[in-house]
Amino acid sequence: MNALNLFKLAEAIRFNESLPIPVKWKRATTVTGISKRTGGLIGGKIGHILLMEDWGGRTRGEFLCGAEIKNPFAHQMLNMSERDVEASKRERVTCKKCLAVAERMKNNGAA
Ligand SMILES: [Zn+2]
Repeated sequence: MNALNLFKLAEAIRFNESLPIPVKWKRATTVTGISKRTGGLIGGKIGHILLMEDWGGRTRGEFLCGAEIKNPFAHQMLNMSERDVEASKRERVTCKKCLAVAERMKNNGAA
C-alpha cells in the first residue's frame, strides 16, 4: 500500500471513530443483489452508518438515515456479518443524512 492510500485509510478510520455513536455500527452500502458472475456485491456508492444494535428510534440492521433496504436477504448475508465490523470502518462514512442524524442524536443527549 502506498503512502497516499495509508494516509486515506488513517483519515477514514479517524473520521469514523470521531462519530458520536454509542452502539456497535458498521460502514455499509445498500445492497441490491449479488453478481452471479463475480459473486461480488451490487450496491450503492454511498457509505452509510448501519446499526448493529438498536439506537434511538432505529433498530439493529437499519441504516441510520433510514435508507431503503431493497434486498433484505442480501442485506442480511452481506451487511450484517459481525466479522468485518472494524474492517468496514476503513472507508469513510459519506452519507450526509446519516451524519446529520448522528449529530442530531448527540445534541439530543442520546449519545
Ligand atoms: Zn445514510
